[in-house]
Amino acid sequence: MRTVLRGGRILDPSQNLDRNADLLLEQGKVAAILEAGTPVADAESLDVSGKVVVPGLIDIHVHLREPGFEYKEDIESGTRAASAGGFTRVCCMPNTNPAIDTAATVRFILERTAQVGSAHVHPIGAATRAMQGDQLTEMAELKAAGAIAISDDAFPLQNAETVRRTMEYCAMLNLPLLTHNEDKDLTHKGAMNEGYTATMLGIGGMPRIAEDIAVARTILLAQLTGCHLHLLHISTSGTVELLRRAKAEGIRVTGEACHHHWALTDEACLKYQTDAKMNPPLRTPEDNEAIKVGLADGTIDCIVTDHAPHAEYEKEMEFELAPFGILGLESSFPITYTTLVKTGILSLNDAIAKMTIEPARVLNLPDGAGTLKVGAVADVAVLDLDAVWTIDRNAVQSKSKNTPFHGYEVEGRPVFTLMAGRRIEL
Ligand SMILES: [Zn+2]
Repeated sequence: MRTVLRGGRILDPSQNLDRNADLLLEQGKVAAILEAGTPVADAESLDVSGKVVVPGLIDIHVHLREPGFEYKEDIESGTRAASAGGFTRVCCMPNTNPAIDTAATVRFILERTAQVGSAHVHPIGAATRAMQGDQLTEMAELKAAGAIAISDDAFPLQNAETVRRTMEYCAMLNLPLLTHNEDKDLTHKGAMNEGYTATMLGIGGMPRIAEDIAVARTILLAQLTGCHLHLLHISTSGTVELLRRAKAEGIRVTGEACHHHWALTDEACLKYQTDAKMNPPLRTPEDNEAIKVGLADGTIDCIVTDHAPHAEYEKEMEFELAPFGILGLESSFPITYTTLVKTGILSLNDAIAKMTIEPARVLNLPDGAGTLKVGAVADVAVLDLDAVWTIDRNAVQSKSKNTPFHGYEVEGRPVFTLMAGRRIEL
């Protein structure tokens, strides 16, 4: 089983590599980076001339919906969507049914992935039983079964003592805690960002301060406990600044941003567009700008999608009643390339780093994740940077269609991925 990718430009931030070369894969591993045109015996040859060859992209924040909500997405369709987006490795959030709150559910996801996965999947365990916010899970058992981190995403812990105790266990077990940051007393039943657009639409607002307050509190608790805190889907300028200061003080905290949070504002919700409803909500141009600066100066470590599929009938509701969440896997790279790289905010190298080696570092993913070093697992994405195309909600691998980027003209398109040396056919 030897495959050689010929004629491409290999870009791998983990080893400061950016040159035209051939990539040899053997038995699921990276075997060598060869001078272009080097003869190789007994190898399948894939022509990638004119394309960029990068480590398979990594998304540490997705909702695969299985078990329990397979009508929205499942491990098979969700990892196909990942591959279509250039991703070879994803971490899935625990708000399934049952929640990922026992070792048995962690094992189920890993077994199911082995059967039908088009990408590697790392489950993230819940902090509390059924994500109800009170009784802590058996985090040591979750970790032993394969959980990569702990999170309360979608059901943010409101009680500071519960956060503190969760962090103490996470610190002891060396598991990162990933927090959705929202003071629910301040967001009430809000459905979008508090501000002019919400007022015009007559929709209850979710103020930016609800995120900032939760972030400030959580950072202080991370400082107290020594837990590695990772801030999920940063949406406000306040959070970017708090993260910047916490890092400067040496607190163990990292952060991520989703492409919709820098590429769109709350005006995407005009006409009661439920495909622009997510939590945290789309904010303001000032927040877009702060997130871009945070990505460029290294405050924000990685780019994620918060891929959150919902069925069409669920989104075809009054704005207030529709569920929060949008697709992300198949629009992430093209939106990132178009809005950050083509505009000169991030170099291509830095954008790829934030989608490969940086998320691998943030969650201590297994050796060989996010790199094309010789000996690493042969997870590869091939990108066509010259492609100009239009995002089409009806042409996705996901089971759901809820994307606000439908009709957007973008540049840069993932062509195919290889997972452990195997080309994924879609
Ligand atoms: Zn999420």
